Amino acid sequence: MSQPSPILSGIRQRCGQCGEGKLYSSYLKLHETCPVCGRDMSSADTADGPAFFVGFGVLLLLAPFLFLLPMSPLPLVPMIIAFIVLCAAVVGLSLWLLPVAKGVLLNLQLHHGAEEASFKPGSED
Ligand SMILES: [Zn+2]
Repeated sequence: MSQPSPILSGIRQRCGQCGEGKLYSSYLKLHETCPVCGRDMSSADTADGPAFFVGFGVLLLLAPFLFLLPMSPLPLVPMIIAFIVLCAAVVGLSLWLLPVAKGVLLNLQLHHGAEEASFKPGSED
């Protein structure tokens, strides 16, 4: 069985080893092991990396509209509605992309064997 791409399987929110098992048991709660192939997923920790990338990307995409909207010639009520829609888009897009980004980062960590740095005392070069 060939190993699927960690990025593509992360986008699909599937295990990076078998490409079939779901990564999450609920919205962002990871399974301890893959339900299909049994791969241990508890060794990887994405911490706040997905939130950083998603927040940065979404704000990069939508922040110009937050600055341009007050300069538009809209009357007050449509402008308030446009702000509400824009804020809902920021929140909705972030919540939609967060599991995807976490899946990609988790699969990349497991694929490359990334782990927390450890230093041995007295081994300075
Ligand atoms: Zn699997």
